[in-house]
Amino acid sequence: MKPAPFAYEAPETLPAALVSLARYGDEAKVLAGGQSLIPVLNFRLAQPARLIDLNRIDGLSYVRRGADGGLSIGAMTRQRELERSPLVRQVAPLLAEAVPWIAHPQIRNRGTVGGSLAHADPAAELPALAVALDARFRLVKEGGERWVAARDFYTGLFATLLEPDELMVEIAIPPAAPSTGFSFLEVARRHGDYAQVGLAASVTLDADGRCRAARLVYLSVGDGPVETPVAAALLIGQALNGESIAACAAAVNGEIDPLGDIHATPEFKRHLAQVLARRALALAGERAGSPM
Ligand code: FAD
Repeated sequence: MKPAPFAYEAPETLPAALVSLARYGDEAKVLAGGQSLIPVLNFRLAQPARLIDLNRIDGLSYVRRGADGGLSIGAMTRQRELERSPLVRQVAPLLAEAVPWIAHPQIRNRGTVGGSLAHADPAAELPALAVALDARFRLVKEGGERWVAARDFYTGLFATLLEPDELMVEIAIPPAAPSTGFSFLEVARRHGDYAQVGLAASVTLDADGRCRAARLVYLSVGDGPVETPVAAALLIGQALNGESIAACAAAVNGEIDPLGDIHATPEFKRHLAQVLARRALALAGERAGSPM
């Protein structure tokens, strides 16, 4: 199918884009990499009256060290740039590990970080990674801006706190606490397919090698990124070993409610969630320095 007719504009500055967004609000859609929006338009799942193309605006694509020693990423940064950035590998190795799981190189060459975060597909990697990394998003509109934590941003299926006149312009990722290990694992039918289940895990150890903090954030098991804090809390104060990890993994099922789809039944997703928890926690623990 072809999209319904729409007006098209390609502003060359951020203020000009914000003026248009303020004027057209929910009649307009912004176009970033187009890897999700164009199929949505072609299937006529959305029929915006106007597209505001962000690709000619300078200064929205960068990966820099943030003032706090973390990462500052422009929303129009292509996913492929994250994957290739030595700074990302150094400061947020979880991102470097996980981004190659997103689709295929051709799609990552065009798809942007902000586009994926704003699109809020429950099977997408970047929203879950942003929650796992305590990321914050800078949202701007004409005459105002606000920062929103990734864990507050996702409000339901393909739903976020973004207002129709707001743009996501920046993603801030704080530096990791010392003695923290991360890991990302997913299961997909073929590499490049959307995940049946995916998991970003982190573990922080104290001076005695016991778990001081742990986090599990899943994709593809709910409406958006799904964190399992009750299961993760079972690890606090524990040495990381087969027993403590198995107890945490078994508890995950109390906090997820996966829907089945043509690729996996809810039961299979629950099974995968446990298996991934065991593997991802063992890997994150090892990377944090646990003898395991
Ligand atoms: P667009 O498609 O341009 O926009 C997506 C939505 O976000 C639109 O509603 C748009 O208005 C809005 N938007 C974009 N930028 C902003 C902004 N800065 N501020 C506010 N709103 C904004 N993704 C995965 O995560 N994992 C996969 O395995 C995966 N597989 C894929 C396989 C195929 C075959 C295809 C075509 C896509 C796949 N994707 C996958 C999606 C891909 O990662 C997209 O690039 C991404 O979801 C959207 O990024 P985009 O820059 O292309 O955004």
